[in-house]
Amino acid sequence: MGIVLLGPPGSGKGTQGTRLAERLGVPHVSTGELLRAEVESGTELGREAAAYLARGALVPDELVLPPLRRALAAARDAGGYVLDGFPRSRAQAEQLPDDDLAIELALDDDEARRRLAARAQGRSDDADAAVIDHRLAVYHADEPALLDLYRERGRLVTVDAGQSVDDVAAAIDAAIAAAGR
Ligand code: AMP
Repeated sequence: MGIVLLGPPGSGKGTQGTRLAERLGVPHVSTGELLRAEVESGTELGREAAAYLARGALVPDELVLPPLRRALAAARDAGGYVLDGFPRSRAQAEQLPDDDLAIELALDDDEARRRLAARAQGRSDDADAAVIDHRLAVYHADEPALLDLYRERGRLVTVDAGQSVDDVAAAIDAAIAAAGR
């Protein structure tokens, strides 16, 4: 069971991803977290990725894919995953099985900005307004192609992420049940 969470920064992919993975008993895989861990451990990959993370730009696929593949290989035994932060482009989506279910957490940019400003994760890319604007712009640039791909596959559901955490979680559960997973 592969589920991918789509949505702008601040839409709750991390929060919902963690909770959903727990409910389903599968790993939660966040490419942002994987990349931040590489930076913190000072690996060569982390050193190459750091500048992209700092300015809110997409990290090149050749740096994103190796840690992602390791995490997905570990998830295989669990029979599924909840992916958060990947895919961010059509090319990335094509790395995943066709029958993954995409759940779009839809949120307008002003609310996304408010939430990012409020969340205290000690992440510098959440604290800088210019970086946040850039991350939102990057998201919107790739969003139509990504949503279209999952829509064409008949594997896209959209949830209103402006609701409370519990209501979003309930909407996600309902969407998964409706998709027959
Ligand atoms: P996130 O934790 O999802 O908000 O991601 C934080 C940052 O990690 C992004 O601004 C990108 O620099 C990088 N990143 C995370 N996931 C990806 C991805 N799938 N492709 C490219 N860059 C990514």
